[in-house]
Amino acid sequence: MPRLLCIALLCLATWPALADSYLTRQLNRPVPGGVAVLALGEGSRAPQVFFDGKPVLVVKEQATWRAVVGLPLSLKPGAQQVQVKDAAGERSLGFSVGSKRYPEQRITLKNTRQVNPNPDDLTRINRELAEQTRAYQSFSLGTPSNLLLDKPVSGPLSSRFGVRRFFNGEERNPHAGLDFAVPAGTPIKTPAAGKVILIGDYFFNGNTVFVDHGQGFISMFCHMSKIDVQPGQVLARGAVVGRVGATGRATGPHMHWNVSLNDARVDPAIFIGAFQP
Ligand code: ZN
Repeated sequence: MPRLLCIALLCLATWPALADSYLTRQLNRPVPGGVAVLALGEGSRAPQVFFDGKPVLVVKEQATWRAVVGLPLSLKPGAQQVQVKDAAGERSLGFSVGSKRYPEQRITLKNTRQVNPNPDDLTRINRELAEQTRAYQSFSLGTPSNLLLDKPVSGPLSSRFGVRRFFNGEERNPHAGLDFAVPAGTPIKTPAAGKVILIGDYFFNGNTVFVDHGQGFISMFCHMSKIDVQPGQVLARGAVVGRVGATGRATGPHMHWNVSLNDARVDPAIFIGAFQP
């Protein structure tokens, strides 16, 4: 075979791999509860991107702008689109969402109020839900220090994201985060730099800390025995936010971690290279 043709074929063979960016390879998991990484083109100014009307994280990788879109667990598989605003105007950008099956888990709780809260509890739960939703919907400027996140604790995973949960036989919200089996008192470290935007002691989540990593990329840690930070505090990557505990609706000490993008809770395992398709 002539050498030039050889080289041309080699280029063709490696082209798809080269076209796939590092971020795409690491984070593009377009399923409900996953992440879509979309190329937006080049340009000196960052395009603005919206999914379901909510602003989306946009980062520059080499010369190319990319949107990192959080896909809610409730999203229907199939064709989806984001809105892109840049110097050229406004346009839609389509992408495809695949399906994913999530397993079921059955949990027995002795405290039946944590399964069927009384009216006073419900008033409290709704107030706390609104407060936490506002935190998830906040959008600060600035690029996250790192998109591939550090593990907040080192230890085995005990419950995965998206598991459909039945408490005392009754179905409740699916598991919106990732659990690590670690002893009470273990320090929890922020997986990227950020700012503490909310702390609270909540009915279901117990002692809770929200850390904003930038542009709607938000971590939440809950069930903590102790909170070590204040609202508004700016944290370096790896700073301790608190200690593992079993406060709120928990059957024992563990570290529960949520990751949110554009107000969609997504699988934290994606960001630590532990995603299971
Ligand atoms: Zn959990």
